[in-house]
Amino acid sequence: MDIHLLGTAGYHPNETRHTACMMIPEAGVILDAGTGFFRVRDWIQTPELHVFLSHAHLDHCVGLSFYIDVLHEKKVERVFVYGAADKLEAVKTQLFSDQLFPLPPNFEWVTVDPTQGQGGLDLPLDGRITWCPLKHPGTSLGYRLEWKDSNLAYITDTTASASADYIAFIQGTDLLIHECNFADGNEAMAEKTGHSCLTPVAEVCAAADVDRCVIVHFNPMGNPEEELDLASVKPIYQSLIIGQDHMRLTF
Ligand SMILES: [Zn+2]
Ligand SMILES: [Zn+2]
Repeated sequence: MDIHLLGTAGYHPNETRHTACMMIPEAGVILDAGTGFFRVRDWIQTPELHVFLSHAHLDHCVGLSFYIDVLHEKKVERVFVYGAADKLEAVKTQLFSDQLFPLPPNFEWVTVDPTQGQGGLDLPLDGRITWCPLKHPGTSLGYRLEWKDSNLAYITDTTASASADYIAFIQGTDLLIHECNFADGNEAMAEKTGHSCLTPVAEVCAAADVDRCVIVHFNPMGNPEEELDLASVKPIYQSLIIGQDHMRLTF
């Protein structure tokens, strides 16, 4: 199965990155709907789309308002949008308030209870998705997706730490997509804004024994290739790469 990184910036887009959006075209599954959501159009191949929101900060949901172009002349019959109740309410009443956007979408909104993620929900192609709450201003949700022969976890908008509660949740995944908004040295800012620095992300990967990790949600004012010192975390964890927009990963 392939996952496409359609947006790998946090906060706002820059010349090379759009904000958070990942897609597994074969299953019609989309993780977050930041500005990268406009690229979903190029990869639609299923009659249903399932969009899971980590939370409702604009860099994760504003792309839902691009839906008219994304779906134009596509054979999509149903679009489901999943998230915690307060996040979906904010998207419905604020992002889609008639003052901000005049045409309400025909989405099917599915509330997930942040505390009841172990039960999970079925995904197309006999998959399953579960979730867990993450520490972030207003809270965020991490997701774990499993199919018969493959699985991945998506953890964004939280502060990584070797003792983070979500480590058990992502234990042993084949592919971890984890945010890394900051280089090391920005720990106080990371804690304050609910984001992660590089070394703690590597520590999470090692503690959770994940096969490989791609980092995303970069500070759009910076350049992760220059600022994130991957060599410095190799002694902690080997298989970590920097995500790029349009990157496709097989898992
Ligand atoms: Zn964000
Ligand atoms: Zn956020």
